[in-house]
Amino acid sequence: MKTIIIASHNVHKLREIGQLLPEWEVRGEDSGAEETADDFAGNARIKARAIAPLHPGAWVMADDSGLEVAALGGAPGVRSARYAGGDGDTPANNALLLKNLAGVTDRRARFTCVVVLIAPDGTEHVLEGHCPGRIAEAPSGTGGFGYDPLFVPDGYDCSFAELSAEEKNAISHRGHALAAVRELLG
Ligand code: IMP
Repeated sequence: MKTIIIASHNVHKLREIGQLLPEWEVRGEDSGAEETADDFAGNARIKARAIAPLHPGAWVMADDSGLEVAALGGAPGVRSARYAGGDGDTPANNALLLKNLAGVTDRRARFTCVVVLIAPDGTEHVLEGHCPGRIAEAPSGTGGFGYDPLFVPDGYDCSFAELSAEEKNAISHRGHALAAVRELLG
């Protein structure tokens, strides 16, 4: 089995990536890098480039992902993990999102995932996936992570958090980006 190093310590993300790349041993490594770019690709590049030199000859990958809400001008966007201030404070992030959308009827949103993949020869590839949907009035479901209980994908009347891992992976932003990665990895 070939190994791919993922620049992340987010166990939820690593689990999803492992499910989406079943032929690969997925190993997570915290890049320790600060996400200072103002777009997803920039942040994914920072994370991938931070760990690539530590793994010469290996495939290295980083993803940056987030939720873009139309009525909020694309927020929380690249700040999705730290929308309410603290890094990865999911209850606070979700509460702030609902507060900022109180009384707003346009609930359109989309998840984006950008993957930067660095090949053993140093070549960089950028792959992207999206999932359109809307923000519910209240959370539902216990699966997934982050904004999942608030995100209702187009064509569904339940949240990401109410779908099985397989159902979410089949339609999610990360699922689409990772499908492109699988194709590239062969
Ligand atoms: P990253 O680790 O910098 O890519 O931050 C991603 C953040 O976006 C996460 O902490 C979540 O808040 C949010 N996010 C990304 N993908 C998902 C998802 O599939 N479900 C729910 N929230 C997500």
